[in-house]
Amino acid sequence: MKKCLTANCIVFDKDHEKILLTRHKALGVWIYPGGHVEKDEFPHEAALRETLEETGLHARIILGKSLYDLRSALAHYEPVPFTTMIWEVPYIEGEHHMHYSSIYLAEAVEGSISKQAEESDGVEWFGREEISDLEIPDNVSKVMLAAFDAVGR
Ligand SMILES: [Zn+2]
Repeated sequence: MKKCLTANCIVFDKDHEKILLTRHKALGVWIYPGGHVEKDEFPHEAALRETLEETGLHARIILGKSLYDLRSALAHYEPVPFTTMIWEVPYIEGEHHMHYSSIYLAEAVEGSISKQAEESDGVEWFGREEISDLEIPDNVSKVMLAAFDAVGR
């Protein structure tokens, strides 16, 4: 089993009313932007890079503050992911991957939806009440609803 570090971003609009989802062409599901963490890259950098690549939107991480102030001259602890998740990715063909995904909350700061990844066939904003009407893996929709809770929506 191949194990990978990945990172995702749940990006809210400025009013924190909607989140940005992309539709995975092969899997036929809606999911938040994200992908594999590359060499010489931290997970939060990967989350923001994937968001920009897959949607055209620049975002900044929110609610990423560490519970404890443990900073020292040599170390800091932020940003902290909203949650982490290990899951077996249901690739249609090829080898199965186990993904350890760091999932960050973010808000869009500039740009508009201007592109989409090759593997996706849609990028759209969705409000909390619209989530239940979409085809979304169970584990992913739970995280999305918890994210709306976290921003008070
Ligand atoms: Zn992988």
